[in-house]
Amino acid sequence: MPGRKLSDQDLANFKELLLHVRGVITGDISKLEQDAFGIDGEVGGVDAVADGGSDSYTQAFSLELLQIDEHTLREIDEALERLSEGSFGRCEECESWLLKDRLRAIPYATHCVGCQRLKEQA
Ligand SMILES: [Zn+2]
Repeated sequence: MPGRKLSDQDLANFKELLLHVRGVITGDISKLEQDAFGIDGEVGGVDAVADGGSDSYTQAFSLELLQIDEHTLREIDEALERLSEGSFGRCEECESWLLKDRLRAIPYATHCVGCQRLKEQA
């Protein structure tokens, strides 16, 4: 199931999210860990997030951030580059639009779910 073209507002939200996440990676990780563990046993939570404001985007992302490292930082920088080039949000392999839910969980994703699965199996 392909996603839909991202609106300017979506792109602005994802840019804000990427910059936020980047700031967290380069700075205040310990605070984030606290925030993530504060959520009572709930993992992921993308489904529970209402569509809209960037606040909910950043909330949905906090657990993912526990796994981040310098490699992720590079991927975030590349995503920001794609944002300025206008190629953000599309699969590098099949060029279909990524699902917004996927981008909300992994704003620096480069492949759609289908292509990602094929890559991991290869
Ligand atoms: Zn694809």
